[in-house]
Amino acid sequence: MADIEIRTGVETEAVVAMPAARSLFGMGLAELTGLMGELGQKPYRARQVFEALYKQRVASVEEMTTLSGALRASLEEQGWVVGLPEIAQTAVSVDGTERYLMKMADGETVETVWMPDGDGGERGDGSEAAEEEAEEDRVQGPGPRVQKAEGFWDRRGNGRDRANFGTLAEKGFRRATICISSQVGCAVNCQFCLTAKLGIRRNLTAGEIAGQVAAVLNRHRIQIGKDRINLVFMGMGEPFLNYDAFMASVRLLVEGVGIPESRMTVSTSGILPGMEAFARETVRPKLALSLNASNDMVREQIMPVTRKWKIAALLEAVKKIPLRTREWVTFEYVLLGGVNDQPEHAREVLALLAGMRAKVNLIVWNPGPGIEFHQPTPEDVAVFQKMLIAGGIATYIRRPRGRDIYAACGQLKRTVAEETLVGIAV
Ligand code: SAH
Ligand code: SF4
Repeated sequence: MADIEIRTGVETEAVVAMPAARSLFGMGLAELTGLMGELGQKPYRARQVFEALYKQRVASVEEMTTLSGALRASLEEQGWVVGLPEIAQTAVSVDGTERYLMKMADGETVETVWMPDGDGGERGDGSEAAEEEAEEDRVQGPGPRVQKAEGFWDRRGNGRDRANFGTLAEKGFRRATICISSQVGCAVNCQFCLTAKLGIRRNLTAGEIAGQVAAVLNRHRIQIGKDRINLVFMGMGEPFLNYDAFMASVRLLVEGVGIPESRMTVSTSGILPGMEAFARETVRPKLALSLNASNDMVREQIMPVTRKWKIAALLEAVKKIPLRTREWVTFEYVLLGGVNDQPEHAREVLALLAGMRAKVNLIVWNPGPGIEFHQPTPEDVAVFQKMLIAGGIATYIRRPRGRDIYAACGQLKRTVAEETLVGIAV
């Protein structure tokens, strides 16, 4: 790989998001209060709109039944809509994963993935979600579960009252993970990633990022508080190159929708200024850094962004993040056959992560059209994992979800008219 074009993505900070005309979804309480003032309404109306948007997750102004008819009419007259992204297409995998093509108001599309039972990505990170997974493995044995048998909760509910569980539990799942996109395309140009092939089209707004979650929750009639939902900002795009909108969406999801930030993980390719800002946030998801290589030379070849920010600088930034009780930092490592998957690489990773409260998620590279890498051999994957564990680093292999529908890591690419998709159900 000689001359790799560098598109570090830094210049994309100028890419301006194009908000939908008059979308309410995405507005915070302060903005809604301002809007109510303009409409000659009392401030408490803003709280009602906020609750309707994020707690009740209404799909239209008409459904905001806590508002007076007159207020609803004046919102509609002025062209205000809820403005949730529309699920334009759905692909269903044999493993229960669903991939959605989400259409924004201007017609741009991104992808969002629903993974009942998650992908194992939470394992070992010290969080509540991780402990649940460990308990589940203890009871049922490790491995993927698409468990839909009648009476699941009678047998597996650990004695808890079934009435306290929501729609997911009734289908036999203990949790689900939603993978959301932060940009239309991506500018970072990692050589192994399908999304990179799109280039960057635009940033998403906070409402468009959080709106993906609301649209998927509505589709599955999820009851927050009863059903356990994990969020991963690991879809299309680099969240730290759309930092303000990404963080604003986190606040809407925490304060509005009611998903705790301890159940959210953001993955970055290593955008240093973003990582530094992230370290100063009080409400923030957990961090995952896409390390993907054990030294700068290999990393530059597969992630040209490394020319701008070296591994050492990224690790220094990680160390400056004040970790909460039970919080660990995840390092993702995509295994590329013959490139970064050999014992010498494992030894280098151990040296890099020594002394950190870190765990590693190994991801077996998912192939994609026009990408010239090889998958690692199962033997090399096993040796790599064993060496890291022997060196004292908790190391997990992420379960690939939805491979048959191109929904696994790095496989999210717009395929509006793609006919090769399996299981399309529009
Ligand atoms: N842009 C962010 C988040 C989205 S990518 C980032 O890069 O971290 C989410 C994860 O998928 C990253 O760890 C990335 O390295 C990994 N990934 C990308 N392409 C992949 C592929 N083809 N196979 C397996 N993992 C891939
Ligand atoms: Fe962008 Fe992440 Fe893909 Fe790299 S791996 S091109 S940062 S989406």
